[in-house]
Amino acid sequence: MAFTPLDQSAQFLKAVGPRRAEALARLGVHTARDLLFHAPRRYEDASTVSRIGSVQIGDDVTVIGEVAAKGVLPTRSGLRVFQLVLRDQSGSIECSFPGQPFLDRSFRRGDIVLVTGPVRFFHGKQIQPREYVVLGNAADGVEAAGKVLPIYAATEGLSQKVLRAIIDQNIDRLLPLLQTEDAVPRALTEAASLPTLMQAIVALHRPETVRDAERGRRRLAFDELLFLQLLHASARRQNAAEREGTPFVRTDELIAPLYRALPFELTGAQTRAVAEIFEDMCSPRRMNRMLQGDVGSGKTVVALFAMVLALESGYQAALMAPTEILAEQHARTLSGLLAPLGVAVTLLTGRLPAAAKRAAHEAIASGEARVVVGTHALIQDAVGFQRLGVAVTDEQHRFGVKQRLALAQHGDGIDVLVMSATPIPRSLALTLYGDLDLSVLDELPPGRQKIRTAVRSESARERVYDFVREEVGRGRQVYIVYPLVEESEKLELRAASVEYERLASDVFPGLRLGLLHGQMQGDQKDAVMQAFAAGDIDVLVATTVIEVGIDVANATVMVIEHAERFGLSQLHQLRGRVGRGGEQSYCILIAGEGAERLQVLARTEDGFEISRADLALRGMGDFFGARQHGLPDFRFFDPLKDDDLMFRARDAAHAIIAADPTLKHPEHAGLRAVLGRRFADRAALYGVG
Ligand code: ADP
Ligand code: MG
Repeated sequence: MAFTPLDQSAQFLKAVGPRRAEALARLGVHTARDLLFHAPRRYEDASTVSRIGSVQIGDDVTVIGEVAAKGVLPTRSGLRVFQLVLRDQSGSIECSFPGQPFLDRSFRRGDIVLVTGPVRFFHGKQIQPREYVVLGNAADGVEAAGKVLPIYAATEGLSQKVLRAIIDQNIDRLLPLLQTEDAVPRALTEAASLPTLMQAIVALHRPETVRDAERGRRRLAFDELLFLQLLHASARRQNAAEREGTPFVRTDELIAPLYRALPFELTGAQTRAVAEIFEDMCSPRRMNRMLQGDVGSGKTVVALFAMVLALESGYQAALMAPTEILAEQHARTLSGLLAPLGVAVTLLTGRLPAAAKRAAHEAIASGEARVVVGTHALIQDAVGFQRLGVAVTDEQHRFGVKQRLALAQHGDGIDVLVMSATPIPRSLALTLYGDLDLSVLDELPPGRQKIRTAVRSESARERVYDFVREEVGRGRQVYIVYPLVEESEKLELRAASVEYERLASDVFPGLRLGLLHGQMQGDQKDAVMQAFAAGDIDVLVATTVIEVGIDVANATVMVIEHAERFGLSQLHQLRGRVGRGGEQSYCILIAGEGAERLQVLARTEDGFEISRADLALRGMGDFFGARQHGLPDFRFFDPLKDDDLMFRARDAAHAIIAADPTLKHPEHAGLRAVLGRRFADRAALYGVG
């Protein structure tokens, strides 16, 4: 795509030089275009800003006022407190920043400041700011009472004030350049009552009202969705056009005995999913399907049916799992279910001894291995299948897009099934995974007991330990999980090991404890898991390595320490490790601050509801965060607000690609250009960029 002035480095914008350009880069603003699309985090206006004279103790408020006085106060404890007095026409109030005397340098008298935080009583009313923004100085003509105030994410070396000025000084010159970039057919945006791109960008930075800003955001969200769906639609088109799938033939030679051998009836949802999968697999079209279902909804057995159908037609089947523990467990489960059919399971993981690995490679290459279960080891170069028919990936969010594709590249026309245990609203699933067909297990197998879930404070820990002893006394087993900051595996390791020592010697001296964490050697982990599964360990102290898939029916208690550090969906996954047998099970979340948000887990076990709450609390970025690879980076789209846009964008994209598969009609040149810019590699891959 041609270079335009909007592609010019941000360094050459007005009011920006090399130093500010560096700071802008930290905010993700590298070009002039990036600056236009740099979205405010939120807006303040008369409806959100309180009059200082009317704030009440206990309120959480945002106020805007002028700095009337400031100073650093020593306290008896030695802590130095920076204080401001903010004034507006209605009154004045103190703002207090304990332990931050250095802030004295950040404010001048006469500065107009926005402050957000709780109001408490301390020698009078006082705000304890969670956030502050210096908007400008009264001397420069900045007024305290604004219309609608966009609040940007600031960064070191680039205050809110400066950022606002940079945008202000450049926006008028840059806006007209956007005209040629408004690639979306106007009929589409008009039908959705959305503004033009230029109007949207103006609304973003200079809204008349907060609703105005929201209309702008929605337009930009629509663009994000439309281009993503165009990409998905072209991926599907190419998938359909490029390769024939394998039309498997159902003979019932193995499927019928499988039904007979199953120790349970399939749920309605499982039956539906199996039917959808069989339809795909028996058609000449290549299957590309996601199976989404809450923890415990029984995805494994659905995958098994897909695999067995492939066997019936003389093909091999593979299942890839993200961890060795999970792969081994799947291999055991599938071996058990397949034994009556006379089918063996071949396990391939990285830690197999060299000779066993070689044997597995040979069996896979000769076709003697019909069902293969493994980890990433399955997508190593050394692995060559004789005739792979279906590739299943469990816990797909643990794999990168490339890895997911790699398993299906072991041959031509391999059918693909990916499984996800993070239930998300259907509209969002169709957005994020729009290149896949979707089957949903929205029903749990019968007879599951509700897991009683409670949120407890740190001070209740002793009572929780008593409860653990009682349950162990009844012959049950317990997990105690220690999360810690995700970035620091070392810290995580220490927390679990240190706590393990303490629990073993001081708290549960009479019980049999085990320790499981991600840094252990494979065979050590194995030994611990096997001992726990065999009932030789009463209390398993673990990090989140147990998050995926572990299935021990006798474990009835899940204690999660520092539960506030987890996302709700992750807690829900962890909780899914108990309640797997017939006994009443319990999940106890021990949390310090921030415990309220955990109550949703005590209230419901519906993974869909929990993911909605989680999305609302953390937003898309953190919700998927480190756990999910290859997701587009949305800046404007809000899954909780934009249901209508998701469907519109999907329909529109499908219609466009159906009419013009490679976007080569002249009226689609703009779409093609933007698509190529947004998704450079993949658009080219699908012939649309
Ligand atoms: P997940 O969807 O979390 O991967 P699994 O496939 O591990 O769930 O299944 C959870 C448990 O439910 C397993 O013990 C499995 O044997 C059992 N299960 C699966 N389907 C049914 C069913 N239809 N009826 C009873 N139990 C089932
Ligand atoms: Mg599973």
